[in-house]
Amino acid sequence: MTTSAAAPTTTLLTDLTEQALLRQRPTREQALALLGTEDDELLDVVAAASQVRRRFFGRRVKLNLIVNMKSGLCPEDCTYCPQRLGSAADVLKYSWITPDAVAETADRAVCGGAKRVCLVASGRGPSDCDITRVTDTIGAIKQRQPDVEVCVCLGLLKPDQAERLRDAGALAYNHNLNTSEEQYGEICSTHSYADRVDTVQRAAAAGLSPCSGAIFGMGETDEDVVGLALRLRELDPDSVPINFLIPFKGTPLGGVWQLTPQRCLRILALFRFTFPDVEVRLAGGREIHLRSLQPLALHLANSMFLGDYLTSEGQAGADDLQMIADAGLVVEGADEQTLPNARHDLVVLRRRGPGTSVPANA
Ligand code: SF4
Repeated sequence: MTTSAAAPTTTLLTDLTEQALLRQRPTREQALALLGTEDDELLDVVAAASQVRRRFFGRRVKLNLIVNMKSGLCPEDCTYCPQRLGSAADVLKYSWITPDAVAETADRAVCGGAKRVCLVASGRGPSDCDITRVTDTIGAIKQRQPDVEVCVCLGLLKPDQAERLRDAGALAYNHNLNTSEEQYGEICSTHSYADRVDTVQRAAAAGLSPCSGAIFGMGETDEDVVGLALRLRELDPDSVPINFLIPFKGTPLGGVWQLTPQRCLRILALFRFTFPDVEVRLAGGREIHLRSLQPLALHLANSMFLGDYLTSEGQAGADDLQMIADAGLVVEGADEQTLPNARHDLVVLRRRGPGTSVPANA
């Protein structure tokens, strides 16, 4: 690396850091330049973005657990998904598990340090009957774990469904944009990008905390990565899960391996700069794509999913906790606020509706 080549990257990282600390997003040109940095600049990139992470989230790592309430047999054709129409992938297929079974899993998740449970069901979107089943499930969870955050992920929402989930006690709704608008037609033909955007906005309008993120490793260009990051920023989510493709055999993307740990870290740094005060969450595929660089990723993301192994007391969950400790980070406690005050207040205000103010004890 020559001095003349290093100088622009140093300036870029300084500018991105200063902007992020003011909650200003990168420009398209800055974002592309960040993704184009060299491997020998990687630690500089991580160091710069980790300053932003520390400013807004300290050394805390929030833990989350996914509960798959209904698995497989989806009529949609998302190419990355083993539950898609006609999938030959070897995944469990089952209909709705009972509210009590979900609540028991949530109990174990909370005991293992999780602050949020994400209730996921396969399918294009819920029927009103499905919403009733999920509101019963939220009730069962909240009865036993009143403080746990419940996020729901059921696909495309119809009118009034988000309101019913909010009234039942859901805090958040997840619906990922997954990739750029330009690439979306190659990823799915049974619903559109606009459908996805509509559901994220519908959830937010109903007072749910919008959670929307991405999957990388599906053939996207740097322009796609940047386009997605900037489109997501317009939607102003409170949490952004970052997935790296798990290329399941039996899906169209089976066998597609396009990511390096270094590229994953650059993408995570871009999302930290783009979402400085937002919960950026390490999600699916972190183990197989980041591999031994996972601890560095925790200096960019402030949140992560634990695997199903948390529910069965497997060794892998203990390994994650050890990784957090070894990285000099700490598991976020049940009584600690995840989001910085300004964004936390936004979540409260959104839930209370237009014309309200933040209560003193929010
Ligand atoms: S809608 Fe959801 S469950 Fe169905 S194929 Fe797409 S990602 Fe998979």
